[in-house]
Amino acid sequence: MTKFFLKTYGCQMNALDSEVIDGLLRERDFSPVSSMEEAEVIILNTCCVREKTEHKVYGKLGQIKSLKQHKPELVVALCGCMSQAYGAELLEKEYPLDLVMGTGAIDKLPDALLDCLAGKGGKVECSLNGHLPPYESAVRKGTVSAFVEIMRGCDNYCTYCVVPYVRGAERSRAVGELESEVRGLVERGYRQVILIGQNVNSYRDNGTDFPPLLRRLAGIPGLKRTRFTTSHPKDLSSALIKVMAEVPTVCEHLHLPLQAGSDSVLAKMGRGYTAADYLRLLEEVRQALPEISVSTDMMVGFPGETEEDFQATLDIVEQARFNCAFTFVYTDRPKAKSSGFSDKVPLPERRERLSRLNELQNSISDELTQRMVGKQMTVLVEEENRGGDRSLGVDPSAPQSWRGRSGTNYLVFFTGETKPGEEVAVKINSAKTWTLFGKMVS
Ligand code: SAM
Ligand code: SF4
Repeated sequence: MTKFFLKTYGCQMNALDSEVIDGLLRERDFSPVSSMEEAEVIILNTCCVREKTEHKVYGKLGQIKSLKQHKPELVVALCGCMSQAYGAELLEKEYPLDLVMGTGAIDKLPDALLDCLAGKGGKVECSLNGHLPPYESAVRKGTVSAFVEIMRGCDNYCTYCVVPYVRGAERSRAVGELESEVRGLVERGYRQVILIGQNVNSYRDNGTDFPPLLRRLAGIPGLKRTRFTTSHPKDLSSALIKVMAEVPTVCEHLHLPLQAGSDSVLAKMGRGYTAADYLRLLEEVRQALPEISVSTDMMVGFPGETEEDFQATLDIVEQARFNCAFTFVYTDRPKAKSSGFSDKVPLPERRERLSRLNELQNSISDELTQRMVGKQMTVLVEEENRGGDRSLGVDPSAPQSWRGRSGTNYLVFFTGETKPGEEVAVKINSAKTWTLFGKMVS
């Protein structure tokens, strides 16, 4: 058994790719370890959507370099989006790398590692070949909820984004294949699936688009909940809103990235909607699903963003009242068109805008979360809250402490007698940012 350590950066798509890598390696007599020091093979499954994540990977490579000085036989592989973006270039630098495997080379990783371990040298495998990973090999991290990738890649080419260059063109998986994957997961005890893709609303297989796919998958017997992410606002249809409102197992949560509130910035980003379009869409969603929670992504300091443009982002945040937001400072990305735009906003200014945006959004999130106190909600139990977490206000000594999620995607810690995979009613007693605390009611 060859011991491997696998570290994942970035989004849910990468988390699923790592579950596949994990499974493929176990099939070939590799066994996972939890520290780099114990490992004979280290694999970093990387992300390069933002500069900050990339810096974390370079930091990790620095640590690995010192490890490798004492253990020269250690084999190190870089996988995922950074490999795809930089390819062979990475081997020419001072990084302690033996293998650079792109996003389409997951299935080739075990052989490449075995060759390397047998002293046959390093390798670069980064052609964007459109391959889909062998999903059936995935070793799932959770026992209640599983990711199901319905489409891969992106054709939108938002001007700031590296994804189309590192994940390739959009390809959708066949409806039948997805149906049997979800049925298989339910048979193995999974109660929730999270359908993932860069833009799930672009899904299309032989005339079936996302709303009917969602209806079919969410209707599979035994499946208690279906979530999906990410929805591009320009493609979110009334048909999808209808399915969300009609099918009770589809969760009342929507992740709808806004990015910015200024129409001129949105146009320069190539997003294909205006602030007014976005607000109209939100209104339609909330009319159909009054209890829905909405999360978003926003970016500040896009090239040319003026203080007035930024104010438009603050204004729309006030109006939209998102339950939660993932906020970022804009950074140039390899191949992304905006990297060549003039009028870059100085970094201190971008950071200052980010903190103003966070201050506003946090106050809205806090207010909306506090409104949950006193309510009763249905929670899907995910796992025992082992040891508790004092920083979240959970008493580690509390008996029968559990962790789960509401349909609206709030993280809920609660006490009571239950087990993972059950849906239970919880009365919320207190709340903090995106987390709720409560007690099970019979
Ligand atoms: N497909 C999703 C969509 O259309 O909104 C987004 C996927 S992207 C991988 C996740 C988020 O990263 C984006 O919504 C955006 O806010 C952020 N992001 C992407 N490129 C960025 C960049 N160059 N600088 C800062 N944030 C960026
Ligand atoms: Fe990137 Fe835009 Fe595609 Fe999302 S839709 S992955 S932001 S190019």
